Order: sequence, then C-alpha cells, then structure tokens
Amino acid sequence: MISIIFHIDLDAFYASVEQHDNPLLKGKPVIVGAIPGTRGVVSACSYEARKYGIHSAMPISQAYRQCPQGVFLPVRMSRYMRISEVIMNIAKEYSPEFQQVSIDEAYLDMTGTERLFGPPEDVALTIKKNIRNKTGLTLSIGIAPNKYLAKLASEHKKPDGLYRIMDGEEEAFLDRLSLKDLWGVGKKTLERLSELNIRTVRELRLYPLHILNSMLGQAMGEFLYNAVRGKSSGIHTMTPRSHSISNEITFETDRKDSEGLQRVIFELCNQVMHRLLQEKSRSKTACIKLRYFNFHTINAQQTVRHWISSTEELFRLTKSLFESRWDGYSPIRLIGIGLSNVVKTDYHTQAELFDDNDYKKKKVEEAVFKIKSQMGGTKITRASLMNKKDTRKETEIE
Ligand SMILES: [Mg+2]
Repeated sequence: MISIIFHIDLDAFYASVEQHDNPLLKGKPVIVGAIPGTRGVVSACSYEARKYGIHSAMPISQAYRQCPQGVFLPVRMSRYMRISEVIMNIAKEYSPEFQQVSIDEAYLDMTGTERLFGPPEDVALTIKKNIRNKTGLTLSIGIAPNKYLAKLASEHKKPDGLYRIMDGEEEAFLDRLSLKDLWGVGKKTLERLSELNIRTVRELRLYPLHILNSMLGQAMGEFLYNAVRGKSSGIHTMTPRSHSISNEITFETDRKDSEGLQRVIFELCNQVMHRLLQEKSRSKTACIKLRYFNFHTINAQQTVRHWISSTEELFRLTKSLFESRWDGYSPIRLIGIGLSNVVKTDYHTQAELFDDNDYKKKKVEEAVFKIKSQMGGTKITRASLMNKKDTRKETEIE
C-alpha cells in the first residue's frame, strides 16, 4: 500500500500567535526574539517582516537595521506551548500514528484512513478548519507518499496552504522547484553545485550516484541522489561520521534566572530535535553542557532505553540533567543541548518513524508526563516539581 503522510506546519507560528493575541499587530512586521541592541537572534517573524528579508536565526541587530519600524517582541514560550498543545490535540485525533517534531510541526501517517475519514484532501481541510476555529491560526498541510515530500509540499503553498503530491508525480513536482528549495540543501552545497554547473533539479538527476559521491562526498552525494528522486530523508549537512547533534548558546551577559534558562533549554531542544529529524537519524542519549562565568565547564548525559522521539522528551531529560548539575545561583555563560550516539535511520525501512514498540513507549511516556504536568501545574515552569523519586519512576516505566 502506498503511504499517505501529512506534514502539518503552522504559519509563522510565534509571530502569528502575537498577532492573534493583539489584533493591532495584524498586517505589521512582527519580529519575535531577542531585544534589539543585544547579541541575540530572531526566533520567528511575520510574513510582513519577511518582506524586509528578515528570517529566523538572523542576528536581531541586523533585523533592526533592515526593519527599524518593525514590532520587536520577546519570546513567550509558555503561551506558544499552550496553543501548540491545543493544535496538536486536534491533529492527533485524525491518526493514531502522530509524531510531533517541533512546537509547530507534526507528521500524521494517514495510510489506510480513507474509508474512515474520506479523501486525504478533505481531511486536511477539516484539520485546517478545526485548528483555525479553535485558535484563529492558519497552517499549511503537505500530503505525499513520504515525509520528505510531505515537508516540501507543506512549504509549497505557504501560508494557509494545502498541497498534495500524488504517487508517481514526485519527480514532476521536484522539477518545478529550484535546488535551494530542496529540504536539506544548504548554502555550501548550492555553491558546490553551481561550481559544477548544475543549475536545476532535473540536471542533478542526470548524474549517477558514484559521480555525485565523488563530486560531493558520499553523504551529500547519496542524499542528493535520493532527494531529486523524492526519496530522501534530509540528512542536511551532517556527515554519517558525525555522532552527535548539538546546539549551544553563549549569553551576552551571564545568566542565573532559572525560568529563563529553562526556556532557553527548551528552544535548544526544539532545534536539536528538528535537526535530528532533518537528518533522519535517531538517538537514545541526551547531553547537556554548562559553562559557568569562570569558564568552568560541565558535561553530562543520560541514556534511555528507547529512541528519544520528541522535543518534550528531550527537554525533560536535559532539564533534569541541568537541575542536578546547577547549584541554582552560579551565573551561567553558556548552555548547550545535544544528542549523542546518533545513528542514521535507514529510510528504506518504513518502520523507522512509526515503529510500534517505540510508539507505544512514547505513548506511555506522554501519558505519564501529562499526568505529572497536570499535577504540577503548567508543563514547563512547574516541571521542576518533579523530584528525584519521580525520575526513578519514569526509568522503571521504560
Ligand atoms: Mg511553522
């Protein structure tokens, strides 16, 4: 049976939430992230701001230079997480095989649901409508025979888009994209392809695998070979020899605000999980790096018995590492979050994403985490109520 995968992706999520919460911001360039004048970056921006060339991860100072009239707002992570939960709860009603991959993105395996729910496009429209009615936010849905193409499809008609790539249309769809639109093709690869005088997806497809490997290295060669055939997993720029994925942040001024630091950890977890997915890899080991004001540096890690499968899970693990290593008052200069012992998933095995055992374990974990969160109040800020005893209980459940 041909798989039917949905990729759902909120449009300019943080900025849209801000515009929804304050209608006066609608139609304005809204930039969510660090305060202008500091060393931080843009976390998200509205479509109006994108017209000024602003994008996420851009230094905030540059964003300010390009759009001084923009509305610059701080990140309100707990608000976004609450709305994300509402949205994801709607989405997961439509498929037992649901995987949230970041605060505003998820995959749904809709294979075989047609008899129950009707044609995939109709289901997608219903999901979009329900989410809009409940939250006022728009999202884009891509439908395709695999995750890689579903991701490209959701991107294709943004914002408020819906696009389906039918089985058999993969290459025709890809031929309409430019090389930079291929998910996982970064600036360096584009430059290399340009040097080789390869300008289009169709041209790239003419090259046999061994030639691509010799021109671009085996990791990128294989990735591109599959990508232009609509099969790729999106290994991004990572080589197969890399065994960890991490992100870290150095603060402009040393910090010791526990709640703020937890938000930073969550953001980093989000980014790391996103990359893990892009690279179609998996890991059981969560890591944290802390550097104090005096450059004293601590690394710690924890390995669990199953594949770490969500931002929330990684956050829970790294947050407990953080809490057990930080004295609560020493100023912190740097925080890093990572996954180590990363192994690449074979994308030919359909089982990788929705592996039954992993899935069941994840469901149990989610349920446990949810109950605890409810007991402790809000998910993030109150998670510190989990004590050592609780952590041991979780380990037993695994
Ligand atoms: Mg999004």
